Amino acid sequence: MRQRYCLEFFLASILILGLNHSADASEDGFKDVVIEKIRITNELYMLQGRGGNIALLGGPDGVVMVDDQFAALSERLLEASRSIFKEDIRFVINTHHHGDHTGGNGFLGAMGSTILSHVNVRGHLLERLKSSDISRRFSLPILTFEDTISLHVNKTTIRIKHLASAHTDGDAIVWFQPHDAVHLGDIYFNGKYPYIDVDAGGEVEGLIAAIKLILSQIGASTTIIPGHGALSNRDELQEYLYMLETIRNRALIHISSKSKDPSEPSLTRDFDAKWDGGFISSKRFQEIVLRSLRNGHDKMF
Ligand SMILES: [Zn+2]
Repeated sequence: MRQRYCLEFFLASILILGLNHSADASEDGFKDVVIEKIRITNELYMLQGRGGNIALLGGPDGVVMVDDQFAALSERLLEASRSIFKEDIRFVINTHHHGDHTGGNGFLGAMGSTILSHVNVRGHLLERLKSSDISRRFSLPILTFEDTISLHVNKTTIRIKHLASAHTDGDAIVWFQPHDAVHLGDIYFNGKYPYIDVDAGGEVEGLIAAIKLILSQIGASTTIIPGHGALSNRDELQEYLYMLETIRNRALIHISSKSKDPSEPSLTRDFDAKWDGGFISSKRFQEIVLRSLRNGHDKMF
């Protein structure tokens, strides 16, 4: 049932309400949100308000922003950027299409920022805009890529790479190479069970493959900006991988046992103390993992 997996629906609703100026209730819901500015280097910051973590790279070529949370926060985010860097926000990179990462696109696009994303992100946003009265003119990425794209600004090569079928089918990770930092979008929920948007092409196997690839390319001192949660590092990402692989393995055993027991076993049991308590509960995470693996099984047979 779609509602069971409907964080996406919830986020889309907030996006739609957030972009509609008559939606005072939604604006009220954001009134106490304060934007925190966390320095990584003098040119690179993480911003946290509500929704997905933002990366901000500043310098004489203009500011590059990765993800833009909700429309109701756009002015506060712009103010936060201007309090650190005097330049305008020239580029916005969407790590994926969810509303808590793309809600500010309309505001920033209208200001003249160039929005870029994987081609599937544009497709999902276009679908969503069909069912709302939001102007699509400024909300959509105008520059899309299929595998990788690089931006060469502020003496930094920003390498953006698509990772297929992980959190969604349009995920991109963003490397700030000279800063030894990477934004992983919602491939990584630091300290919490992650959401996998199976309806939008996400898969637990793809998520695991993505994390393995990233671990093979980062060092012990690399700064990791997760989609949600505090700044992180390789050791913590390794622990996240261990949690994902263990629960995936247990789920595969459960599926192959063809158990008729209607009550599912707790596949997450010993991990709950550390990873439960985010917006994806242990029960929901288990449902998502089983659904993702059953989909994969159905594709094979
Ligand atoms: Zn997401």
